[in-house]
Amino acid sequence: MFDSLSDKLDKALHVLKGHGSITEVNVAETLKEVRRALLDADVNFKIAKEFTNTVKEKALGQNVLTTLQPGQLMVKLVKDELTELMGGDAEGLNLSGNPSIILMSGLQGSGKTTFSGKLANFLKTKKSKKPLLVACDVYRPAAINQLHVVGDQVGVEVYSEEGNMNPVEIAQNAIAHAKQNGHNVIIVDTAGRLAVDEEMMTEIANVHKAIDPQETLFVVDAMTGQDAVNTAKAFNDRLNFEGVVLTKLDGDTRGGAAISIKSVVNKPIKFIGTGEKMDAIDVFYPSRMADRILGMGDVVSLVERAQEQFDEEEARKLQKKIAKNQFGFDDFIKQIQQVKKMGSMKDLVGMIPGAGKAMKDVDIDDDAFKHIEAIIHSMTPDERSTPAVINGSRKKRIAKGSGTSVQQVNQLLKQFDQMSKMMKMMQGGGGRKMMQMMGK
Ligand code: GDP
Repeated sequence: MFDSLSDKLDKALHVLKGHGSITEVNVAETLKEVRRALLDADVNFKIAKEFTNTVKEKALGQNVLTTLQPGQLMVKLVKDELTELMGGDAEGLNLSGNPSIILMSGLQGSGKTTFSGKLANFLKTKKSKKPLLVACDVYRPAAINQLHVVGDQVGVEVYSEEGNMNPVEIAQNAIAHAKQNGHNVIIVDTAGRLAVDEEMMTEIANVHKAIDPQETLFVVDAMTGQDAVNTAKAFNDRLNFEGVVLTKLDGDTRGGAAISIKSVVNKPIKFIGTGEKMDAIDVFYPSRMADRILGMGDVVSLVERAQEQFDEEEARKLQKKIAKNQFGFDDFIKQIQQVKKMGSMKDLVGMIPGAGKAMKDVDIDDDAFKHIEAIIHSMTPDERSTPAVINGSRKKRIAKGSGTSVQQVNQLLKQFDQMSKMMKMMQGGGGRKMMQMMGK
């Protein structure tokens, strides 16, 4: 995410690192590079200029009051200003109605339907809601089908009316259906066009007026840069929406839309989409995003994702097994699967401070665990629980069965053995023993 912008900002801010103090000259030099980085990332010219002017004023004003090094001070100022520009505090959804009504708007291909499914899944699993998805794109039967497909994927009912060409009526009927069937949130997916046109705007404005949603969300493809900002403006002028959803942030986006949109329409970005799968949705936190843009990692999100996958009951069972020396390959594979559920490897690495930058050219393969899993799957249940029984000929068989080499099998067995020893020591409170072992 935003690799090139992160890189350029890092270079710009690096200039100050060797300097003992902030001066007009070195600030101007640094900020010229910062501005260039922002423009290259497709941030609007006016916004980039205001941004650097604000940072400059603050930098020169604060210099005497701070004990920070100039480089650190500038990173802090740029981070604070980026956070401010992207919206300051995170803003949640207003789910006060019963049912709460969420209207999705945006151009065709922006990711509206995909996001409707993601949001339904999010509200169902994280907020314990009972959502209803509503198909109001009356022109494209394929779009209605697609909503049914995502609804099936996340186990959420989809309301559609075949043959009815009146989206206002469909939306109203859907609300009645939701009330009758105990749905407390409804998400209305509407028709988009390839570009802003009057007919589409009138139609969605009519739906908006008729159903009076608590939340109208504008969905936009982050890859479209300045266009995203212009489209947001057109939709906001008409719908006065509550928030923005930026999709496709997993792609090679330059970041301009994320940075500029809030200050142009004065509406917060509420969610981001980071992939095609139904769990690729994140609440947007301006400060965390600023950290990521500056290559400072996003430890808070990383820990949150880990916590989401954390199952206390499972953890207790695991602890017992480790204490009794019964931790086997079956448990190991479960752990791997949990890590995989946290997201794509590249995404996770990007959240580790410093790692994103250091590893940006390394091709991080989501199949990194594939060999390990294949090897474990080729073992018999006995071998998985007691790896010591695996002899030379079995190693050959396992290598063959998993399409790996004996060397890879040996390597995994050795790693597993070391890990088991380490776990045992940590269990016994043997910090000292562990230090000894690591010192060897
Ligand atoms: P709609 O026309 O606005 O309903 O857009 P769709 O939901 O059909 O999405 C258009 C395309 O973008 C589809 O191929 C989606 O799989 C893809 N897409 C949607 N959201 C994301 C995202 O966050 N990341 C990526 N990489 N692709 C996405």
